[in-house]
Amino acid sequence: MSSTNSTQRPIVILGAGIIGLTTAVRILESPLYQEEKIPIHIIADHLPNDPLDPKYASTIAGAHHLSFADDEDVNQTKWDKRTFHVMYNEWKNEGEKTGLMVLKQTELFVKHNQHLKIYEDHPDFQVIEPDQLPKGIDHSVNFTSLTMTPFTYLNRLLDRISALSNGQVMIHRHHLPSLSSLSHPSITAMIGEIPPLAIVVCVGIGAITLGQVEDQTVFPTRGQVVKVKAPWIRSGFTRQVGELNGGEGGERTYVIPRPDGEVILGGTRELNDWYPYPREETTKDILKRVLEICPDLCPKYKIAPSALAPEQDIEKLHITEDNLPDSDTDPTSPLEELVIQTLVGFRPSRKGGIRLERGKDLVLGRDHGKQDKTIVVHNYGHGGAGWQSCWGTAEDAVEILIKSM
Ligand SMILES: Cc1cc2nc3c(=O)[nH]c(=O)nc-3n(C[C@H](O)[C@H](O)[C@H](O)COP(=O)(O)OP(=O)(O)OC[C@H]3O[C@@H](n4cnc5c(N)ncnc54)[C@H](O)[C@@H]3O)c2cc1C
Repeated sequence: MSSTNSTQRPIVILGAGIIGLTTAVRILESPLYQEEKIPIHIIADHLPNDPLDPKYASTIAGAHHLSFADDEDVNQTKWDKRTFHVMYNEWKNEGEKTGLMVLKQTELFVKHNQHLKIYEDHPDFQVIEPDQLPKGIDHSVNFTSLTMTPFTYLNRLLDRISALSNGQVMIHRHHLPSLSSLSHPSITAMIGEIPPLAIVVCVGIGAITLGQVEDQTVFPTRGQVVKVKAPWIRSGFTRQVGELNGGEGGERTYVIPRPDGEVILGGTRELNDWYPYPREETTKDILKRVLEICPDLCPKYKIAPSALAPEQDIEKLHITEDNLPDSDTDPTSPLEELVIQTLVGFRPSRKGGIRLERGKDLVLGRDHGKQDKTIVVHNYGHGGAGWQSCWGTAEDAVEILIKSM
């Protein structure tokens, strides 16, 4: 374990979501750590194996790689592409035990007929011919993409952090009320007396209240999702009604399968809504919407025998909208028996997008001169795209950190 009376100034990473942990990995792999073995501390309120909390978005997320990057948004496009590349290679090398699943992703658009350009760079991209479009769909594309299982992936990052540092990175569960609290005895007892060399702020929605950051352009976008067990679903589907507007516009319905047979069904995008519990009417609405885009979710034995022609084998039946149980005569969704859990989370949205930049240096305690200034690097505000952009933003955050030294 690293010693708290080390004479080296440490680096602190604040936050242990997907952003804090991927940033920690990239710092550990950088020359900064490799050559100087700077002590590193991660401080966070929430850690990956905690009970779920809506304020800890990384553990609630779907999650899939389905970029929202506008065609002109060079940075977001770069971060999302880079993350796809990194995760795709991880899956290629180690398979689904990574928590990653590579799958065919179908995007269905209603009331607009353009897809984002970034999808064209995914493997196997194709546009569905107009005469092949399902009823009510104005445009559709499909391509190869990825889904992530947060619990598995975050735990593997913890293992990687431990392996890269030979167990030297210390992870502390602690709430930091403000950046200047780094000099409070409750913190110096953990990280040592000398002011940190740098702090990387990866606090997600916590940026609203964290003293000396207090970013009032950050706001929650509430998301409610339903987790079901449906291992026969191995493809992803999304229906976007209306304009996407950088990620939070229109209505979005999605089906996100995971390697372990669980499937996340969603969703909602409720701006500035802090209600932390599931709403029953929303759950019902999600279960109805997902069947419209993925009828195969319906357990096969739920199909009324009258819907089957005598020669049809129920196991091989491809379920379509026409042979689904009638929701007017049976108000119970056929999916209800598959439900494991209903989850709510707050996406850390930010007007103007992700904050990835050097902040104002901190002077902690007495100002001993330039030497003692603590560099601040911000990496937060990833909205609904933290999983699909994490590696790209982590690499840029480390570059900013190194240039600031
Ligand atoms: C329902 C839902 C579905 C989603 N689906 C997708 C998807 O399909 N694809 C995708 O890319 N993204 C998705 N997202 C978004 C994604 O989850 C977030 O963008 C991402 O998790 C943000 O990660 P983060 O590390 O910044 O924040 P978080 O995971 O919220 O972590 C923040 C960390 O900072 C700590 N912290 C905060 N303040 C303090 C403080 N003062 N002191 C100490 N610690 C502090 C917290 O304890 C926590 O450890 C979804 C989100 C939701 C809610």
